[in-house]
Amino acid sequence: CGIIGRVGDGNALETLLTGLENLEYRGYDSAGVAVQNGSGIDVQKRSGKVETLIDSIENESLEGAVGIGHTRWSTHGPPTDENAHPHTDSTEDVAVVHNGIIENYAALRSRLQDNGYEFTSDTDTEVVPHLIQYYLDGGLENEAAFRRAIEELEGSYAITAMFSGEHVLYAARQGSPLVVGIEDGEYFLASDVPAFLEYTDSVVYLEDGDVVIVDEDGVEFTDLEGNPVDREPETVEWDP
Ligand code: GLU
Repeated sequence: CGIIGRVGDGNALETLLTGLENLEYRGYDSAGVAVQNGSGIDVQKRSGKVETLIDSIENESLEGAVGIGHTRWSTHGPPTDENAHPHTDSTEDVAVVHNGIIENYAALRSRLQDNGYEFTSDTDTEVVPHLIQYYLDGGLENEAAFRRAIEELEGSYAITAMFSGEHVLYAARQGSPLVVGIEDGEYFLASDVPAFLEYTDSVVYLEDGDVVIVDEDGVEFTDLEGNPVDREPETVEWDP
C-alpha cells in the first residue's frame, strides 16, 4: 500500500523508516525494508505495525546508503512475516516492493516454478523478483532484466527494485501512484509525497507506462522501451 525508496550519501535506514511512518495514514497490515549493506541486500520485514518492524531491527546491521521500504495492504496471501515486502529472488540479488495487483501472477508463477525457481510467499508480488532473476540468469544486465520482467506484468503496479551491489533504484508505474522526490544528491521514490516531504518539496508525478532509473547522479525518465520521456519537477505546497 505504501512505497519508499532512497538513494544518496550516508545511511538510508532512518529515512526509509520515517517514510513508512509518514505513509501509515494509507492503512497497512505489514511493513518491511531492504538496504544495500556493501556486500549484499539485507531484508527485515514483519506483519503488524511499523513500530514492530523498528523494534525488530534494533540489533541488525541494515547499514547502507540505498534502500527500499513498504507498507503492505494484503490482497494475495494473509498478513504474515513471509508475505510482507520486500520480496527477493532466492539468491537475494534483487529486492522488490510493489503496490497493486499482478493479475497474471498465477501463470508467471507456474512457469517460473517449472524452471526451478522456488517461492517462499503466497503473494502475487513474489513473481517479480523471480522473473527478474530469470532474465539475469539468461544473461541480461540489470536494467534490461528489469524492463523485460515489467513488460510481462498485467494488472496494476507501482514497483521499485534494487540489485545487490548497485547503488541504483529501478521503478515502474502502471495504475498505482508513484512519485519521485528530488534533492541535491539525494533522491526518493514513494507512493505519495508525504513520505519524503520533510526532505524535499521538489516532486515529479510519474505517469502510467513510466520507467525510472535513479542513482546518486540523478533520475532518468523513460517509457517501457527505454525512450526518454519529459517529466518536470514541480514544487509542492505543504501546510505542516
Ligand atoms: N498485491 C500485493 C500483496 O498482496 C501488494 C499489496 C499492496 O499494495 O500493499 O502483497
